[in-house]
Amino acid sequence: FPLLQQIIQHARTSPSSKAIVDLPLSLSVTYSELTADILSLATTLAPLIAENGHEARVVVLCEKGYLVPLAMLATWTAGGLSVPMLPSLPLPEQSYMATNAETSLIITDAKYDSRAQELKGEVEKAGGRCEVLNISLEDIRRKSSSGEEGRNAEDVFADLEVLDGERRAMMLFTSGTTGRPKGVVTRHSALTAQVSAVATSWRWSPSDNLLHILPLNHLHGIIVALLPTLWVGATVELWEKFDGPAIWKRWINEEGRDPITMFFGVPTVYSRLIQAHSTLPPELQEKATKASSTLRLQVSGSAPLPESVKATWEKEGGVGGGQVLLERYGMTETGIIAMTGWENERRIKGHVGFALPGTEIRLWDEENNKGVTEREVAGGVQVRGPPITKEYWRLPEVTAKEFQDGWFKTGDVGVWSADPLAMGQLRILGRSSTDIIKSGGEKISAVEIERAILELEGMKDCAVVGVDDEEWGQVVSVCLVTTRPDVTVADLRKELREVIAPYKLPKKLKIYEGEIPRNNMGKVNKKKLVLEAFPITL
Ligand code: ATP
Ligand code: MG
Repeated sequence: FPLLQQIIQHARTSPSSKAIVDLPLSLSVTYSELTADILSLATTLAPLIAENGHEARVVVLCEKGYLVPLAMLATWTAGGLSVPMLPSLPLPEQSYMATNAETSLIITDAKYDSRAQELKGEVEKAGGRCEVLNISLEDIRRKSSSGEEGRNAEDVFADLEVLDGERRAMMLFTSGTTGRPKGVVTRHSALTAQVSAVATSWRWSPSDNLLHILPLNHLHGIIVALLPTLWVGATVELWEKFDGPAIWKRWINEEGRDPITMFFGVPTVYSRLIQAHSTLPPELQEKATKASSTLRLQVSGSAPLPESVKATWEKEGGVGGGQVLLERYGMTETGIIAMTGWENERRIKGHVGFALPGTEIRLWDEENNKGVTEREVAGGVQVRGPPITKEYWRLPEVTAKEFQDGWFKTGDVGVWSADPLAMGQLRILGRSSTDIIKSGGEKISAVEIERAILELEGMKDCAVVGVDDEEWGQVVSVCLVTTRPDVTVADLRKELREVIAPYKLPKKLKIYEGEIPRNNMGKVNKKKLVLEAFPITL
């Protein structure tokens, strides 16, 4: 498969350049070592996978670090379908996914071995048959050097069947923001299309060094961050988790290690970095801001980036040191759909930019069953092209429902911008199921109101939801975290009146202490939130 061919090519042309740095393990793996490790592990996996036929589902349940990409690449090399899983998720959630995927093999490490055994038990309880393989780098390397599995890499790779692009490569579960996570199947051809489009669009080069703090079980961590690095022969430094002050220090790089050139996060990562910046000693704050400005690329995605965060980062004297946060929009089913333009002047707040190469976007007016070409007219975002998934795992009805004449319905609503600076860019108004509030016959974008609220003084976080109402159908309602505890809905209406139309003004308010509940991709489950914040009173 093309990604493996790319990696082998890097191992040939620059064998000693660093592919993956895994700090907790104090490990730095070159392209040549990566290729040897993939080969060694794939040779162990091949018979276990073959037993269950092509596309046997192989769950990866390892601590975030080098073993995760290694297990995925070796699974593909041995013909399996990789199902990366977050090891720290509660057992019932893992069990739902592993059982649903009809897993036949779980690759695990010393730390998660007992969890893997429990998970195997769950899969078998549901009638499946499943094995556990506990791997360690020492083992993989010992086998490789003892000659046990140390045949010439090219011989063995040549033995392994040539993969057809239509073979299923990976199953990633959606973030579960609107319901139970769905297993999205990505075939090798789509994976290649997604990864290469990101690498090209972001002008990724072998000299890039990505600081990677995202979980390795979603699109963002895997397709957007990890795999394009390996595609181009660059370096990725895997961190197990987010640590604000440590990230700033890594950018400052007083230890003189390879400088970081790229950083990706969800919007909450950037707001936490802003918070962490203020806790640094004053002399470090200045250095941190300067260091941020030297990165080649900082990107936000997975959820709407609040304008206040973007502004605090980017403004003159802002913590980001003049660095512009790129925003991208995508989903598990499609890879990245759009991203803001490369040139600074085209990165306009509130917009997610242009389609990535290979993906076509159209806006669809479902009521009148026609395309929307006019600017500032809302329509359902639909996409097609080689990067788009063809199916949800074992959900043929859902799959059929989500496609229309070969176009995939994202479930999001957007407009083509008329802003002269952002002409032709896509702006996301939110999910049609929860973000488009229908009140008094009007359709109101929750995302636009959230943006406006976060611009007001003292607003830290908010989520806008539609609450069912006899008179209005739904009413605009706000969940708010603020430094102004006495703020009332009347105050909000008064302040917002300056910037939004009267019919969009909120009618209900609930103040939250601390944080608005989010899932681990920083997203709010609004169906749940609305029940919790505005319970129906009879
Ligand atoms: P589920 O499908 O299980 O409900 P999910 O849709 O959150 O969960 P993902 O595939 O991880 O699962 O997320 C894709 C969604 O995230 C998109 O459909 C969109 O609503 C939202 N999204 C991603 N990037 C952006 C962005 N830059 N701005 C606004 N929304 C975004
Ligand atoms: Mg979704």
